[in-house]
Amino acid sequence: MTIDPDCIFCKIAGGEIPSKIFYQDDEVIAFHDIRPHAPVHFLIVPREHIPTLQDCGEHHQGLLGKMVALAPKLAAEQGITNGFRVVVNNGQDGGQEVFHLHVHVMGGPRPWKIG
Ligand code: AMP
Ligand code: ZN
Repeated sequence: MTIDPDCIFCKIAGGEIPSKIFYQDDEVIAFHDIRPHAPVHFLIVPREHIPTLQDCGEHHQGLLGKMVALAPKLAAEQGITNGFRVVVNNGQDGGQEVFHLHVHVMGGPRPWKIG
């Protein structure tokens, strides 16, 4: 499995940088976003260093499905009861800042700070 030692999300997955991880298994981790846009804002992140969706191949379909399928389960566990946004910022013009693939899940009562 590819890891980039300079990547912040690889460092979080490896426990080198502290974060509020509340879910992990052998393929993905989930932790709270450090700059939340909504009352509940967390990221679902693969352990593998995959920079963007363009870097995914057919063998990643299961992983991608798992990440999206985890969103409602983890949202419910985090107390989201009335819907949520699922966002993947992808590539430069997609507003991606951290080039390690991740799914944002945002929810909680509105109004939100952003979004
Ligand atoms: P983006 O790449 O634009 O989809 O967004 C990256 C997200 O990662 C932003 O919402 C940041 O607030 C979040 N982020 C960056 N560094 C950390 C960190 N150390 N812990 C938690 N979230 C982070
Ligand atoms: Zn990485």
